[in-house]
Amino acid sequence: MTDRLYYHDSFLYEFEGEIRDITESPRPAVTLDRTAFYPTSGGQVHDTGWITSGAAKHRVTEVADREDGGVVHYLEAPVKELAPGSRVRGEVDVVRRRDHMQQHSGQHVLSAAFVRLFNMTTVSFHMADDYCSIDLETLSLTREQIEAAEGLANEVILENRPVNIRFVTRDEAGKLGLRKIPSTERDELRLIDINDFDVTACGGTHVRQTGQIGCILLRKTEKVRQGYRVEFVAGLRAVAAARRDFTTLTESAALFSAHIYDLPQQATKSQEEIKALRKQRAQSLEELAAAQAAALLAETPEADGRRLVVRTFSDRDINSLKLFAQKLTRLAPNVVALLGTISPQAALVFAQSIGQPFDMGGRMKEISARFGGRGGGSKDMAQGGIADSSQVDAALADAKASLAATNTH
Ligand SMILES: [Zn+2]
Repeated sequence: MTDRLYYHDSFLYEFEGEIRDITESPRPAVTLDRTAFYPTSGGQVHDTGWITSGAAKHRVTEVADREDGGVVHYLEAPVKELAPGSRVRGEVDVVRRRDHMQQHSGQHVLSAAFVRLFNMTTVSFHMADDYCSIDLETLSLTREQIEAAEGLANEVILENRPVNIRFVTRDEAGKLGLRKIPSTERDELRLIDINDFDVTACGGTHVRQTGQIGCILLRKTEKVRQGYRVEFVAGLRAVAAARRDFTTLTESAALFSAHIYDLPQQATKSQEEIKALRKQRAQSLEELAAAQAAALLAETPEADGRRLVVRTFSDRDINSLKLFAQKLTRLAPNVVALLGTISPQAALVFAQSIGQPFDMGGRMKEISARFGGRGGGSKDMAQGGIADSSQVDAALADAKASLAATNTH
């Protein structure tokens, strides 16, 4: 059983202790008789820091609870000079600990604010590396409620209320109106008491005055199975998050040459412009296809009662090829069009005016397969792809030859 010094003082960053046991594998680790290092538990992640003995300084990378009540300090590298009984000094990473205190105490204030204002209970707390979240038991959560809870939490922070650690029996705790009483075997409970605002049973590290939380900023909310998840950041994390947000907004606003507050309107305006331009472009393409089809048809002589257009394009996608084929075959009742494109992808379109006798779908299936691709379609309009763009002309020539061989009389 390790004596947990952080239980009584979250601001104790340095301490002395004696090694109880040492493990080399699977990971190097030491257990001490006493520690100020916080092990991952109750939603709060572990401290990091250093354990030193003489001139040797060992990095503590992770701290965990052991079932027998010990606290295990995992080290970056194996230790050679230490043995059970060695005296060591522990040093907790202050920046990380302060951050964790700001987040965890911030969570207590926020959870209490949701209870006070809307009777919403916090069912779980999660601390990640750059944000935290609580899950609230509620069927709905509005933006106004979010802002009201954030407002009350920041007021309590500003009031700089004392935060005390108290130890009571379970019976005493029952009379104190705790947010929730944990279901442990232990008779003694550790309470975090935010003066006249909240009392919660908790083993975490906490600030001494709510002012040390700094501030609290609520961010994303999302519906989860048992209610709503609310992401928040407290203290310096809130400052870092606001800084990141501002940088992102500033960069985005620069793209529009706009003020950051005008971004939503500017983005909406841009989207509308893009929509209008797309519509305009489609219309222009259609008009262009019609004009080109008319010009091409005018220079195509009639032979055997039909006008056969065979053409390879170098830069059209299959959709504009189809559009072109459609225009051609509708301009006159006797048109047969065999079209190909070599980029962006080798593709073929075969089409005929309604009433013409060929089976374009069947022909496409056969020709595209012959050139290592696949395709098909209806009697009057068919499309396909082939593997090699240098074979487009050859495929069209084959298609032309097969039409000539078909007896249509
Ligand atoms: Zn807590």
